Amino acid sequence: MSRKFVLSGAVALAFAVTPVAATAATAAPAATTTVYYTTSGAPTFRAEINAGAANWNRAVSNVKLVERSSGASLEYVEGNDPQGSYAQTDGHGNGTIFIDYTQAQQYNKTRITAHETGHVLGLPDHYSGPCSELMSGGGPGPSCTNANPNAQETARVQQLWANGFRTAGGPQERIYEKLPAPVG
Ligand SMILES: [Zn+2]
Repeated sequence: MSRKFVLSGAVALAFAVTPVAATAATAAPAATTTVYYTTSGAPTFRAEINAGAANWNRAVSNVKLVERSSGASLEYVEGNDPQGSYAQTDGHGNGTIFIDYTQAQQYNKTRITAHETGHVLGLPDHYSGPCSELMSGGGPGPSCTNANPNAQETARVQQLWANGFRTAGGPQERIYEKLPAPVG
């Protein structure tokens, strides 16, 4: 018993000393900010939501999306809205992503969730962009199934999150996905 106690004390001392030494030796590396999200309000699309989050997690390192049942700052919900899907967010990891059933039948579901997540990470819409661009959304049409951000989008999110989570994100804005009118 007494031997075990002494070992524990030594371990505790080591942990107490290590961070001080590390801080003195090097500048603190850029920390990864974790954004917790819940899919409990969008059970139909849980697989696609997680796939979209995984695409972002592979692309960027300054922010990481992690599913959690409670205490999430980002909530995915599903339903019917004549105006379509939307992201209501401050662009700093907080808000609600609404996935519209009708749009989810017409467009690639993972592209929808990854696109909406892009808004929560701070990116605006750019419907005139190509399919290779995630934030072009419904612009390239329903045949576009790309659900990964391109190099420019990845670099922009890395930049936005380089200094970690900005608590003063401002008011949340609702960004509807307005589908372009059919051509011809
Ligand atoms: Zn959008």
